[in-house]
Amino acid sequence: MAGGGNAIRGSRVGAGPMGEAERGDAAPRQTVTYFCSHDHRSVVTFAIEAAAPESWDCPKCGLPASLDSENPPPAPKIEPYKTHLAYVKERRSETEAADILDEAVALLRSRRKAGEIIF
Ligand SMILES: [Zn+2]
Repeated sequence: MAGGGNAIRGSRVGAGPMGEAERGDAAPRQTVTYFCSHDHRSVVTFAIEAAAPESWDCPKCGLPASLDSENPPPAPKIEPYKTHLAYVKERRSETEAADILDEAVALLRSRRKAGEIIF
């Protein structure tokens, strides 16, 4: 029995590596390595025609990882800042909206007043 197993194995190796037979069917792939600030290296596989994104969330720690091993993205203390910025933006647009409304009301009132004077 052991001899039979060896014979099958031998014929397979002779026919060529397993990878080569599969390569025809599978889409061509590229592997891209991302580096996070925790020195994790994450190898991500993309289809060859897909543009690899410049950053990728590290699967090990969830931090953003970049293609540049020398300069991985910093750990995100960004989130509170983002929220604050969003808050400021929201307030600013509210103020702008209020200003526009005031202007419109003022314009309407001045037109009415002008009308009153004319009539
Ligand atoms: Zn990581």
